[in-house]
Amino acid sequence: MPRDCLFCQIVAKELPATIAYEDPEVVAFHDVAPQAPVHLLVVPRRHLARISELQAADAPMISHLVMTANQLARTLGVDEAGYRLVMNCNAHGGQTVFHVHLHLLGGRPMRWPPG
Ligand code: AMP
Repeated sequence: MPRDCLFCQIVAKELPATIAYEDPEVVAFHDVAPQAPVHLLVVPRRHLARISELQAADAPMISHLVMTANQLARTLGVDEAGYRLVMNCNAHGGQTVFHVHLHLLGGRPMRWPPG
């Protein structure tokens, strides 16, 4: 685990976070600076810096991130109104934390295209 990775530290419970769900593969927690009434991050326990580095063998992990976000959307009651799942990559994608994560945003209408 890279010592300077914020999300590795959250996964390891070395840094506090409001955890909404965890299992042997993924951890989901509330974003510290929410951009919507519901804003969670779903991250793999295993460190991987960016989605452009995904290998074919990572497909089950990515699928698990999405299925976890879908279940959380149902649990939090935003599934029928709708929600957005986002993964940012590198500078132009707006990535600021270099540990793969899926944003779950809901509870308000989302704009398109994003800024
Ligand atoms: P991104 O810009 O896609 O890399 O998203 C990183 C997200 O992590 C941002 O929405 C931040 O608000 C969020 N974030 C940064 N530090 C923390 C933290 N300690 N706990 C929870 N969320 C965080």
